[in-house]
Amino acid sequence: MSPPADFRGVSAPRRPKTRDRRRRVGAERNQTLSESAMTEQTSAAPVASPPPSERTAAYAPAFADEVFKNVDSGEEIKTCMQCGVCAASCPLSLVMDFSPRKIFTMIRAGRRDEVLSSQGILLCTSCYACKVRCPRKVPVVDVMHGLAHYAINLGYATRPLTQSFGTHFWGSIYKVGRIDEKEVSRKYFFRDGLVKAAKYGLQMADIGLALMRRRRMKLLPERPIRGIVDLRKMLDKAAELGKGRAG
Ligand code: SF4
Ligand code: SF4
Repeated sequence: MSPPADFRGVSAPRRPKTRDRRRRVGAERNQTLSESAMTEQTSAAPVASPPPSERTAAYAPAFADEVFKNVDSGEEIKTCMQCGVCAASCPLSLVMDFSPRKIFTMIRAGRRDEVLSSQGILLCTSCYACKVRCPRKVPVVDVMHGLAHYAINLGYATRPLTQSFGTHFWGSIYKVGRIDEKEVSRKYFFRDGLVKAAKYGLQMADIGLALMRRRRMKLLPERPIRGIVDLRKMLDKAAELGKGRAG
């Protein structure tokens, strides 16, 4: 609904002539801001309003509920006050398509596809800068990982290499209870076939040899840790109980 004709007068009343100059300048500035805001609202409305069918496709109002229900720590974003400290603290926000703060507000706006196909949720490196600085104690990093897990399970693959590395990383943990660098690298490098695997292997040969010289990587396969059976039971149970499963 358009604002009343005297809207500008109400939001920025004209100051009496007896007031000092500083107050008049402030009032004028307020008036200018009100006018800009109103111009933006009135002029942007017709342009930003797509047909109802497109609005339904672009905005899924139930998406916030979906996140609260299915994403690990998803409900925590209810307390986000959009201060932007997480975005300012995140070392990767400059290369993310959407910062954590934006992701959270987009969830509330129901922008499902944009959130689930965002490469930002898969770029998070778990540095925890956001989590320790959030004034509302929102576990930002947990939500980011929860969203990434949920998106991958739903079939979104915006960073296939990250996804592939993560899959082999966790495969190694499940198999032997630790990271077997040789196996993870081999599976990761062979994702694109033999020729590319040889090329990637040669590129990383120096690092591999240095790791072996310092006994950080063995030639022989890693043996499963003691208690691997119990560890697998725990991981299976966590997967069964955890959120993030599509459907
Ligand atoms: S720092 Fe916390 S409250 Fe502020 S925008 Fe980020 S998640 Fe929200
Ligand atoms: S934990 Fe992730 S989202 Fe948080 S500051 Fe670090 S990279 Fe950014």
